[in-house]
Amino acid sequence: MRILVTGGTGFIGEALLPELVEDGHDIVVYSRQVNPCEGRFTSFTALADIPSSETFDAFINLAGASMAGKRWSRSYKQQLVNSRIDTTQALVDLASRLAQPPAVILTASAIGYYGHHQDEALGEDGQQVPGFAQDLCQRWEETAAQARELGCRVTMLRLGVVLDQGGGAFVQMAGSFRFGLGTWLGSGRQWLSWVHRADVVAAIKYLLQDDAAEGPFNLSAPEPVTAREFCRELAHHYSPLVSLPVPGPVARILVGEMADELLLNGQRVVPSALQANGFVFRYPSLRQAVTAIQQ
Ligand code: NDP
Repeated sequence: MRILVTGGTGFIGEALLPELVEDGHDIVVYSRQVNPCEGRFTSFTALADIPSSETFDAFINLAGASMAGKRWSRSYKQQLVNSRIDTTQALVDLASRLAQPPAVILTASAIGYYGHHQDEALGEDGQQVPGFAQDLCQRWEETAAQARELGCRVTMLRLGVVLDQGGGAFVQMAGSFRFGLGTWLGSGRQWLSWVHRADVVAAIKYLLQDDAAEGPFNLSAPEPVTAREFCRELAHHYSPLVSLPVPGPVARILVGEMADELLLNGQRVVPSALQANGFVFRYPSLRQAVTAIQQ
């Protein structure tokens, strides 16, 4: 397949692209950087510059400013929105301009799509509770879904918190444990739906090839945990000297609005559609995932 990837320079992309190449796919990258990925792929710095004569079998859309990258000022929130909606809209515009639109568009979304929930398990038909992340994910998915009118198969990847070494949430979450201090945020009862990056890569490859895989797919492990359980698991591996909660008000002072949106509240998401389609997770349990990450 010839595949156009946005956000391919990111945490997921850096694991995904080498595997796609190994599988024999031809990769083209859209990036804001000149010569991204050390110039290994054909690249464009503007989607509008891609000629209509180009042909692609698939788009994989991973671009977006980091949700946990900075304190959420009004202007950064706008950047979180624009970096996703504008890039996705530009991809749909490109699809409509091409002589032959791609057969499939896999587009990132997040479990934030569901908003904040208590203990109920959420499959892809889970109810939405309004909030900033929920609104953003919904708009993100709706923007991509426009490509259905062009005959594209559109598949939304509702990603959980992606864990692996070398970046992403794990490095931040395990940081204090490495220095002997185990912490969890707030009550610790909020759910944390995580997924190992290797399973994200495998699921993307699986959904790329499955012509019947259309619509939303939760990309989170079958065994989500609460924040407190997550910390217990890290404590099992790192044996911190002290374990302490970081109270909600302190978290709010430290990171602002992001604390309530991403850290002190959560959702218990299950990968119903992936499992119904026969996808098998390599790391279904947090114990397996953290053990692999530590090796
Ligand atoms: P990264 O944060 O690593 O970034 C992905 C890429 O997005 C970057 O490499 C960059 O590509 C591009 N990007 C960054 N900022 C901007 C911006 N302001 N405007 C346009 N593009 C920008 O993402 P991940 O690989 O971790 O995740 C991929 C997607 O999945 C993201 O959209 C993310 O929101 C979503 N997701 C990820 C989760 C996770 O835990 N990792 C959880 C839930 C959802 P370049 O510099 O080449 O333009």
